[in-house]
Amino acid sequence: MSLVAPGIAQLQPYDAGKPAEEVARELGVANAIKLASNENPLGPSPLAIAAAGAALANAHRYPDARGHSLHLKLAQHHGVEPEQIVLGNGSNELIELLVRTFVRAGEHVVFAEPSFVVYRMICLAHGVAFEPVALRDGTHDLDALLGAIRPETRLVFICNPNNPTGTHVSGAALVRFLAAVPPEVIVALDEAYYEYVTADDYQSGLALRAAHERLVVLRTFSKIYGLAAFRVGYAVAPSELTTYLERVRAPFNVNALAQAAALAALDDADHVRRSIELNTRERRRVGAALAELGLRVLPSQANYIYFSLNRLARPVFDQLLARGIIVRPFAPLPRDLRATVGTEAENDCMLEALREVLK
Ligand SMILES: *Cc1c(COP(=O)(O)O)cnc(C)c1O
Repeated sequence: MSLVAPGIAQLQPYDAGKPAEEVARELGVANAIKLASNENPLGPSPLAIAAAGAALANAHRYPDARGHSLHLKLAQHHGVEPEQIVLGNGSNELIELLVRTFVRAGEHVVFAEPSFVVYRMICLAHGVAFEPVALRDGTHDLDALLGAIRPETRLVFICNPNNPTGTHVSGAALVRFLAAVPPEVIVALDEAYYEYVTADDYQSGLALRAAHERLVVLRTFSKIYGLAAFRVGYAVAPSELTTYLERVRAPFNVNALAQAAALAALDDADHVRRSIELNTRERRRVGAALAELGLRVLPSQANYIYFSLNRLARPVFDQLLARGIIVRPFAPLPRDLRATVGTEAENDCMLEALREVLK
């Protein structure tokens, strides 16, 4: 008998790419530019850094197990009840908690592909059946996702805007979808890039809760708040669901420094505003420059741009890496790359390197 379940045998470790320091060391250059993980190029809010620093003095204490203050603040921030919020060690943990808590052996999960690889990884790790539904024109195909729902389906993930493509589905389309999903099925809307959206027709799941009872909205402090290293995310969901998620999650899953940093980050609206402004401006500029290079660029509502080359992407990725530019290739999508929108200077370096490589 094999040591592990077939799903675990099939799993590949998550490929996070090389850290910038490692690339820089290997190349012998002072610094590499990392545009691979959709991090905020402006860094964290100074308020969050100071709050985490102040919390260090209490490092001998266990964190507030419920994350009381952060619960209250997020509840206030979103106009929901504190019981409707569950904190996670990154929204990654909440994706896993949803599967572990609500999907049993023999039951089934639906999500789009390509989308966030973690949905697939967690289903494999837990031996849960799943159906990936192909994007249409780089966008979630909501009708096909509906069609993939079976009597055994417990959970559907919708990533909006979608990672890695950056595309979004409209609020109107989402409302129709949510109303058509059988009421017992949980829909998890992963809104990791919510703050970057500028499209007028977009709506957050938080505004659409009337359309479907079992709706979960996932948010994170890893992207616009610039706190990826701290690992904090949260779910907003009806208390019918949060009561079970709270029982299954590990005690102290969000550490004290992370709680302090996240609380302070919520107070820095100016940092969020500057991050949005930079991203909106540079996303437009970089998208146009890539299109000018003759590449097929998908319209992005997030802080990254997805584009297709007319050749294999891996050698292009490698040559960019040799120039100290780290973008993101995807093994199942051999002609495509994703580049995070960086600072103006970082984007200029990336575009310059890409021009050279493609020449
Ligand atoms: C980055 C990302 C997350 C957030 O992950 P954390 O665990 O909160 O750092 C979740 N979903 C998607 C689609 C992402 O791209």
